[in-house]
Amino acid sequence: MIAPVVPSSGTLRPLGLDRVRVTGGFWAELQARNAEAMIPHGHEWVERVGWVDNLRRAAAGRLPDGRRGPVFADSDVYKLVEAMAWEAARTGDGALDSTVDDLATVIAAAQEPDGYLHTGFGRAGQAPRYSDLEWGHELYCYGHLIQAAVARLRAHGEQTLTEVAIRAADHVCREFGPSGRVAVCGHPEIEMALVELYRATGERRYLDQARLFVDRRGQGTLADIPFGRSYYQDDVPVRTRDAFAGHAVRALYLACGAVDVAVETGDDKLLDAVTRQWERTVAARTYLTGGMGARGEGEAFGEDHELPPDGAYAETCAGVASTMLSWRLLLATGEARFADLAERTLFNVVAASPALDGRAFFYANALQQRVPGQPPDPHRPSPRAVSSLRAPWFDVSCCPTNVARTVATLGGIVATVDDGGLQLHQYATGTVAAEVGGRPVALRVETGYPWDGTVRITAEHDTGPVRLRLRVPSWASGAVLDGVAVPPAAYTTVEGDWRAGDEIRLELPASRPRFTYPDPRVDAVRACVAVERGPLVYCAEAVDLPPGASLDAIAVDTAVVPTRGPDPTLGPDTVGLTVRARVTMGGGPEGLGGGENRVDAVAWPYRSRPGPTAGGAEVAVPMVPYHLRANRGPTAMRVWIPARHSQHEERA
Ligand SMILES: [Zn+2]
Repeated sequence: MIAPVVPSSGTLRPLGLDRVRVTGGFWAELQARNAEAMIPHGHEWVERVGWVDNLRRAAAGRLPDGRRGPVFADSDVYKLVEAMAWEAARTGDGALDSTVDDLATVIAAAQEPDGYLHTGFGRAGQAPRYSDLEWGHELYCYGHLIQAAVARLRAHGEQTLTEVAIRAADHVCREFGPSGRVAVCGHPEIEMALVELYRATGERRYLDQARLFVDRRGQGTLADIPFGRSYYQDDVPVRTRDAFAGHAVRALYLACGAVDVAVETGDDKLLDAVTRQWERTVAARTYLTGGMGARGEGEAFGEDHELPPDGAYAETCAGVASTMLSWRLLLATGEARFADLAERTLFNVVAASPALDGRAFFYANALQQRVPGQPPDPHRPSPRAVSSLRAPWFDVSCCPTNVARTVATLGGIVATVDDGGLQLHQYATGTVAAEVGGRPVALRVETGYPWDGTVRITAEHDTGPVRLRLRVPSWASGAVLDGVAVPPAAYTTVEGDWRAGDEIRLELPASRPRFTYPDPRVDAVRACVAVERGPLVYCAEAVDLPPGASLDAIAVDTAVVPTRGPDPTLGPDTVGLTVRARVTMGGGPEGLGGGENRVDAVAWPYRSRPGPTAGGAEVAVPMVPYHLRANRGPTAMRVWIPARHSQHEERA
């Protein structure tokens, strides 16, 4: 099956990229951008910064001289190859196939005879192999190599890359197996890759090695560091942890590996442990966008409810990793909540990273930009992960290639099957072809989602009895299926035979904007309000405000529902919204003006009585989808804006 995750058991079974085709709308546009810009752009940059050349030099015996990039630079070549392999499988692009073969040849030539493969260790003048498991990323790099190889294997059968990955995996099993080093890698990733290689080849040793790595984590085999062992999840065993903590991408990749091990070994206790951690993390450590990892320091999860909007790190890779975890939990359990978080995260973190031209990316995804900031240099890698604008590449450039491989495989998370039926989890125009109960089912889906909530599903031929389940998102109160109300946050079921041309119509209230309020314990945004429409989070950008008005000196009037428009010219079908607000401090048109309440006043900002929260002039505040932010030059931005709940309250 041509899919990244193919469990041998679980509630739902995935469908391959050849069975689900996204042909129009939001995700098709992003997939086209990936093919035309993001993947070629990634290829240009891994050559330009010398990361492919590291492998060429390794093969030619010319390292360590001239090795470039961070210690884990090899992994970004592998992730790019994975993206290319899935993309070539999806579209049958022969030129891309050849590029994958060329890169596979470079990678194969760099591998040592015993299977070891890393450009940063083990040669004269370099540190010895596995001498720095805390930061060396050797096993992490194998993980990405193996995932790329599994993509190639499933799309094309045995190839150069498969042989390289099997040699590397065999080497890992020898070095780190039951009689080898009692150690783990500072960055989880190898675990889920080994399980997938087991699924693809049937070689049980890879699964056993993955389970060993999951069980060894949390035993303190890695050194204590200034961030603490929690940074790499080596402080508490996976089975006894209560929430995701430490470096967010590490924590989420480890959780993916743990779910994979649990599913393949029938370890329900391990699956329950990760599910509990997911619940607590979603309840207390996740941004409205689905972003995870509140702290820039250590790129880490914060404490419960520590979710500052301006400091939000919410790394793009953590969004990718969260989506990978949600997908695994959905396949294992069939529960709608996992597809729900995947959707939120895909639209508001993963799709928010690439620029409209596909040639620049956000690494961190803050929910508030206080000052416009400076554009990154378009000709150099950005030295910083945090920026007010997208950068073409980064010194640590994990995110762009991670977005590329995710976008190439989006079709794979649209639908699944079980013994009696077919499930639609995400809505996109396209086709789904599957076998249900031994009989073929082919459906056509047409929708303007997420801009419009009407989803039409048509049978392409006659079928026997099929149980079709459609996800009704958690925000979709008032959804209607063929004229009948259906509850949100669950799957709704249609049973029966289909005749060719039979159509059902799901109406999701995606075009009804809504206000969203935070739990008061999320104290950084207490008394604020956000605006959502369907699965999309919106934001206000200062470039849209009337002259003199400040994003930090308005309060949204929540008694007035947001209205449509003006629609920004930021891609096809894009819907803009407008909220009504009052200027709370001087500086706006007819603001309070004067004295201590001026926005630009330089004065001690703490007082013996509360300042005004409203009373100034009314302003219309345009809002744009968060994933399209920062496409019109440097500007301040807010997702959460102070709210004024009623005029009565303000007059009191
Ligand atoms: Zn990243």
